[in-house]
Formats: sequence, structure tokens, C-alpha cells
Amino acid sequence: MSERESLCAIKVGGSLLKDGKSYLEAAKNIKKFVDEGLLPIVVVSAAKGVTDALLEVTRGAAEKLGKVFDLYMGIATELGSQKVYKRVLEELELLKRITNSVIEGYDPVLQDLILSFGERISKVLMVEALEAMGVRALELNARELIITNDVHGDATIDYVTTANHLEKLVNSIISTAAVPVIEGFIGATEDGRVTTLGRGGSDYTATTIAALLRLNDVYLVTEVDGIMTADPSVIPTARIVKVMSYREAMEAALHGAKRINPKAFEPLEKFYGSVVHIGSWKLFGTKIVQAIPKEHRGPKVMMHRSLHEMPYIAIIGEGVSDTSFIKKVIDILYEQGVEIMGLQTYYYRPSIIMHVKKGSEVSTLKLLHKKVFEEVD
Ligand code: ASP
Ligand code: MG
Repeated sequence: MSERESLCAIKVGGSLLKDGKSYLEAAKNIKKFVDEGLLPIVVVSAAKGVTDALLEVTRGAAEKLGKVFDLYMGIATELGSQKVYKRVLEELELLKRITNSVIEGYDPVLQDLILSFGERISKVLMVEALEAMGVRALELNARELIITNDVHGDATIDYVTTANHLEKLVNSIISTAAVPVIEGFIGATEDGRVTTLGRGGSDYTATTIAALLRLNDVYLVTEVDGIMTADPSVIPTARIVKVMSYREAMEAALHGAKRINPKAFEPLEKFYGSVVHIGSWKLFGTKIVQAIPKEHRGPKVMMHRSLHEMPYIAIIGEGVSDTSFIKKVIDILYEQGVEIMGLQTYYYRPSIIMHVKKGSEVSTLKLLHKKVFEEVD
């Protein structure tokens, strides 16, 4: 394996970052990659609940800042280094000064600046946690590296400029062999204003880095073992989907599947087809690849959603708009006497949608999940 090939990207999701212990747990798991001879580029989210709290601050709920203070100072204290304690305190004080300037009315530029502190501070804590685990770490600055357009709150990355920045850095990363840590979710415009990439945007940061540096693998770490065939709180028999295509994952995201940011697949489609692994530290159960082999065509995920108060069920997967699959679904519904109020499918989108009567969505979902995923014919 060449040194360049040893690079991968790991995004640590905010749901995993709750206290000092969880930062150390993440660091311990990142160390396993290092021990295997890999050099992961670590992308961190803000700790759990921080982005939501900061959003409320930008909307005038100044008291929510206290929650962010307590959480981050608590973690800094747990990690126990004077240096980090001081750094985090400085950042929080700067954040406080900035939030004092929040006045009535929506200011997207100020909002992004305030939100950015969630990831900025989380990065400092992750670097400290890695060093505490004996892993040499290197802080990168997303505001210098990830260049975006000026759509505040939902910015798109300027791939050309960002690729230049990353490419310039990559040799020094390899030669120092220290684990680089960068904030997810944030970037800056060409003229230096902080932007954010939209909710769940850390995935997009990680996949962009992977695609632009042509990395083989990018790991998105969350608290579940992978993408499931359905929401397990509705369908307890839901299973992990082992392989999906970018198109399928994007389609699931468009229908509001949790934990996937639809923009995340764009750089992978455009520049390089890194394999996206989704899962927990224990198990990366789902692999998302550019093109799935033929035998993996078919339904992957189903969910119920509602649009303008009209419930619908979406089934997502390459080939679900084929006649044979549509017939199968219609037969199941017909046999069980389930009325549908409409069916929608487009040949260029890997999904079918069925509008169902209000109140029947859960039972219909259960029926379809059982017949499509649990009964092998
Ligand atoms: N912290 C941001 C959010 O909660 C970004 C992310 O977690 O990916 O949306
Ligand atoms: Mg988050």
C-alpha cells in the first residue's frame, strides 16, 4: 500500500459525542485505523444537541448558550488538559461576544458564524482526545480549506478551489503522519465569510474530501450499525441494507431518510467513487457504492412520509419502477384489500411512491415490509 493509498476519511457524527468519555471512545476507535497502517482524515461534527442549541441562540434564545458552555467546558474538564481548557474557554467567550450582537431579525451571515463554533470547539476536543490516546493529531481549519459559495445555511462547496487547497496539504499530512482533524459542516466563502453546508453537512465535508483526494474509503460513524430497510421503531424486524448505490442513498435522503445529507453524494458522482461505509464503531453494516452489481438491484428501503398531510409510502431501490416489481406490490395490496389512492414512479428515479389513506400508512408499511423483505419467494 502506498502512503497515499493509506489515506481514508472518517466522519464522527454528533450523536456519538456527548461527553469526555465519548470523545475518548472515538479517539480509541480512530487509533485502531492508525494501528492498521491507515491514515484517517477525521471530520468532526458538533457534540450532540449543540447545533440545535446554537440555532436557538441565533433566534434570540440567548439562554441556550449556557447549555453549550456547560457541555463543552464539562468535556474540556473531563479531558483534563489545561491547554485545551483555555482554548475552549477562549472560543466560548468569543462566541458569547458574537452572540451579544444578535439583534432582532434574521441575519444569515451571523447565524453561520455562530453555528460554526459547534464544530470548531468539537475539533479542538477531538484533537486533545486523540493525543490522550497516544495518537499524534494535527488540526486543520475548514474555514481556510473548504471554500463554498455564499448561500448561507446551505452552501455548496467550490470543488476546484477546495481540491487545490487539499492537494497542497496532502503531502505534508503524509510526511508528518499525524492524524488530521477538520471541522465538518463549515466552510468559508472566497472572501473569508463563514458558511455552513446545511443540516447533517459533516457527511458532505467528508465525502468531498474523499472524492477530491480520490480516497478509496470514507466512513460515516453514527450510533446505528447501518441504513435499515425501514425505521426499526416502526418495523422491529427491519434489517441492515448491506449494499446501496449512491443514487439509492440519495433518493432515500430526498424522502427524508435520517442521517443522510443529499448533497453528500454529489462530489462522489462527479469526481471519484469512494466507497461510503455507514455504521457504528462496532459495525459498518452498509456500503454505498457508485454502481451496484446486478444481483443487488431491487428494493432496499421503505418508509412512510406525508406530503401536504397526504400520507405516502416510498419504496427505494434500483429497478423498483420495473413492471415486475410494480406488479408484485400491486398484487400484495390487492390481495389484502388495501386501497391506494395513487401510485407514482419515474424511470429516472429509483423509487415508487404510493399514496394511501390517512391512518393506514403504518399497517400498509408493515404489510409491504413483511411481503417484500421478509418472505423470500
Ligand atoms: N452539526 C451539524 C448538524 O447538526 C452538522 C452535522 O452534524 O453533520 O446539522
Ligand atoms: Mg450534528
